[in-house]
Amino acid sequence: MVGCVTADEDRDRLAKQLLELPVHELVDVLRRVLPHYTEDEYGLRTTLVLATANKDEDVSDVPDLALVAWPDRDYYDGGLGPDQGLWEEGHCAKCATDLASNAKRAYCPACGARCALT
Ligand SMILES: [Zn+2]
Repeated sequence: MVGCVTADEDRDRLAKQLLELPVHELVDVLRRVLPHYTEDEYGLRTTLVLATANKDEDVSDVPDLALVAWPDRDYYDGGLGPDQGLWEEGHCAKCATDLASNAKRAYCPACGARCALT
């Protein structure tokens, strides 16, 4: 296949494996992957992140975006935090980005600050 390192079938198999994970485990896998795509060029840092888009159709057609914060594994004794949806919300204490996570204690994926979500 021109321009691809892996075959369609291989990516399909990987996607099916990821689909079997509960969201907090999927987030943990992506935490190990997305930061490797960070690019620093001309003084500009570009980081690949995971985000949620919430749209309340009664209020607006425009979704609210929040970056998915990485659970603080030290705080959770090596665990991933609660097995729940990305229900914890808040703002990064350092860069003020809107955040969402399954965990109340997490790291901002944009700047790396430790944050408390509720
Ligand atoms: Zn931040």
